[in-house]
Amino acid sequence: MINESLRINCEKCFGFCCVALYFSASEGFPTNKEAGKPCLNLKSDFTCKIHKNLRKKGLKGCTAYDCFGAGQKVAQVTYAGQDWQKAPEVAEEMFEVFLIMRQLHEMLWYLTQAANVQTEEKIKTKLNSLISEMNNITQSTPEVIIKLDVEAYRDKVNYLLKQTSEAVRNKVLKGQKSSLKHKKTIAGRADFFGANLKKISLRGADLRGAFLIAANLSENDLTGADLIGADLRDADLSGTNLENAIFVTQAQINTAKGNASTKLPKGITRPMHWDK
Ligand code: SF4
Repeated sequence: MINESLRINCEKCFGFCCVALYFSASEGFPTNKEAGKPCLNLKSDFTCKIHKNLRKKGLKGCTAYDCFGAGQKVAQVTYAGQDWQKAPEVAEEMFEVFLIMRQLHEMLWYLTQAANVQTEEKIKTKLNSLISEMNNITQSTPEVIIKLDVEAYRDKVNYLLKQTSEAVRNKVLKGQKSSLKHKKTIAGRADFFGANLKKISLRGADLRGAFLIAANLSENDLTGADLIGADLRDADLSGTNLENAIFVTQAQINTAKGNASTKLPKGITRPMHWDK
């Protein structure tokens, strides 16, 4: 199971994602905004003026964003409850730390998922050791976090996630190859934009980074499929079984369409708008 510290908790944060990030209206945010400038809808108590209407207003960038608990870590651990409004002299540093912490927490989230499904002891030990090392780093001072070689960690994490993906998919496919084929790619990522995959076997499929925007995956069984980084915006997941799919994030699910029959992995919450 995913530990609570890797779950977004806006109540313990100081609105970092609404300030630190650069964002644009074309990506589903309210406006174009430079990094480090507060969003026009952010209130002085760090809540959002239009929180209840984000979906109605089509602000998919806001509704899909997930900091994997990095916001509350920076607010409550790195800066011990000090906020950037009361300490403007360190605001810039806090935002920089948040952007790095978000990457570390995202990697920790995937590593934890991998450790939960990995059955090969040797890899599981490596995963747990990297989780512990990275957890310790997230408790470090801002100076240490800012100087960290994040890319070096990303390489180590990617290697272990790929090993885990192969082990899980091979187990489901029992040595057979997945029947999923794709002809087109965009920047090396499989392109299934708008594809009808309803009748294609997706058990154990490698969907890493795939474009599944508006694809029909309804009533399909994605047991053992790897969805890391897949773009599921408006993909139809009605009646789809994702219970044992791997590396599925809340943000991916929030952008997709589904219904009461969609089976989700443990720890992922059914989006409220699916019931409407
Ligand atoms: S609209 Fe609300 S949630 Fe979105 S960035 Fe602005 S303050 Fe944050």
